[in-house]
Amino acid sequence: MGTQKSTSRRAVLAGALLTSGSSILASSVAPSARADSSSSPVAQPTSPASTPKGPFTLPELGYAYADMEPVIDTQTMTLHHSKHHQAAVTALNAAVAAAPMLVGRGLETLLSIASQLDVVVRNNAGSHYNHSLYWRMMSPPGKGGAPSAELSAQINQDFGSMDAFKAAFQSAGVSRYGSGWAWLVWNGSELKVISLPYQDNPLMDDVSLRGSPILLNDVWEHAYYLKWQNRRDAYLSNWWQVTNWTEASRLFADATRQIDHASWRAN
Ligand code: MN
Repeated sequence: MGTQKSTSRRAVLAGALLTSGSSILASSVAPSARADSSSSPVAQPTSPASTPKGPFTLPELGYAYADMEPVIDTQTMTLHHSKHHQAAVTALNAAVAAAPMLVGRGLETLLSIASQLDVVVRNNAGSHYNHSLYWRMMSPPGKGGAPSAELSAQINQDFGSMDAFKAAFQSAGVSRYGSGWAWLVWNGSELKVISLPYQDNPLMDDVSLRGSPILLNDVWEHAYYLKWQNRRDAYLSNWWQVTNWTEASRLFADATRQIDHASWRAN
């Protein structure tokens, strides 16, 4: 089955992790929770002076904060990248540094064992991955290219038309109650649209749809509220002006090659 093939490499990585230690969850929360509890009524978080600068870092955008105007205003882009995303990176680095079993694990490996992670690691790892991808999925208006012939054909096959796909993607974003993301995912055999809550993503081992992300949009209010206020639907429908179809097409090509490679290895 395609889904199993698409996730087999990650499953192997997760399995290797699981056999290398008894409880990642326990080791990720116990040290800091127990630290110095006899001399202080409240366990102290890592002090700013010793906050680790890595291994995870805030990616550069490749465009200016103002470049998403008029779809996304400059202040929203500035706060979203330099404050919201940076906060997730900082929190993730601190949480991983405090969990010896997680030190040295790559971001995708962490996501593949999300069900076993402390919620702080889970949410900030998801946030770092999702936002890093989100920045790549945008280009200044009119500069995002068009879907490749292969991606267009697959969208037409699985949704009927590009307009039908866009409607489904927007609907997923609008109907997500509270905070979350809209996703276009290759599950190994077809493209699917879904929304997931909070910072969840299709690389996590316990979400309702696993697979390779092809496109995503952030529907947390911080992504659009300064300009669009309550009109999340308007943000979603205008977002197509800044969609980076060149990058989505590259992700689709990578995802479908990965499936071919996994099939070959399985044989
Ligand atoms: Mn966000």
